[in-house]
Amino acid sequence: MNDALSSYKSCRLCPRKCGVDRSAGKKGFCGETSALRVAAASIHRGEEPPITGTGGSGVVFVSGCALQCVFCQNYQISQQGVGRVVTEAEFVRICLALQEKNAENINIVTGSHAAPALAAGIKAARKQGLVIPVLWNSSGYETLEALSPLEDVIDGYLPDLKTLDSALAARFFKAADYGEAVSAAIKKMLEFRDMRYEGAVLRSGVIVRHLVLPGRLDATRDVLRWFAENAMGKGLLSLMTQYTPVRGGDMPGRSVNEAEYETVLGWLDEFGIEDGFYQELTLSADSEWLPDFNRVNPFSSELSTSVWHWRAGFV
Ligand code: SF4
Repeated sequence: MNDALSSYKSCRLCPRKCGVDRSAGKKGFCGETSALRVAAASIHRGEEPPITGTGGSGVVFVSGCALQCVFCQNYQISQQGVGRVVTEAEFVRICLALQEKNAENINIVTGSHAAPALAAGIKAARKQGLVIPVLWNSSGYETLEALSPLEDVIDGYLPDLKTLDSALAARFFKAADYGEAVSAAIKKMLEFRDMRYEGAVLRSGVIVRHLVLPGRLDATRDVLRWFAENAMGKGLLSLMTQYTPVRGGDMPGRSVNEAEYETVLGWLDEFGIEDGFYQELTLSADSEWLPDFNRVNPFSSELSTSVWHWRAGFV
């Protein structure tokens, strides 16, 4: 068994440490065996300016997720199994097709539970001509052991920092240890990569993303304080206000309002956080933001151009 497959044998790739044998076809909390599955790949123009650049970001949506937030906008692929198995050769072709379409980078979304297969796939793609940066766009719910093999293959990190509140994490992700895991993971990412640009486009570095949850501003304040104390000057902050209720149930049932938005912007000043981005509030009411991965182009055509789809293949 090669190194990549042995990591799946008694899987402890994320802090859930399920211990199941994914190489034998068993699934843990993330819902995935050792076979890499992908739902879509597209040129995406909705990321932060240094990620989008002029060519757009080459986003690869991996199926399954080790965190599974109740409010996930990508729940079809993170929790409902949408996507299909791709071989390493097909993964390489997807990366190269994104590069051929002038993507600024390969932006791997939620790949933590598939890190060994993805690391092997990226190395293979490099050998076959992939030269653009590769970004790791994750929930941040990762172990340091799983992150270490990525050090040589990932150029930039886009981790979420959803909350440091264990009660909130237990309620929304069934992961009371999320805060502990994500803060250690982001510190490690900041050690791996410093901020570098080619023109205005990110070549390496860390952008910490925080989605403001309506009615949960205390969680946002804790996150901003953590960023100011641990990451300011080393990475950038991206403050997102696009939260949109997607499925009812135990999740906030409205978008961020203007008063909450102003409060959070005031905290950026209070903590002296200047390097980064924040979304305009108008985006939060835009239902076009929500993807449908059963469509060949899951996003609105303004936001993205489909390059590969789990049902249609290359488009
Ligand atoms: S990656 Fe999946 S199977 Fe492995 S420990 Fe995490 S949730 Fe469990």
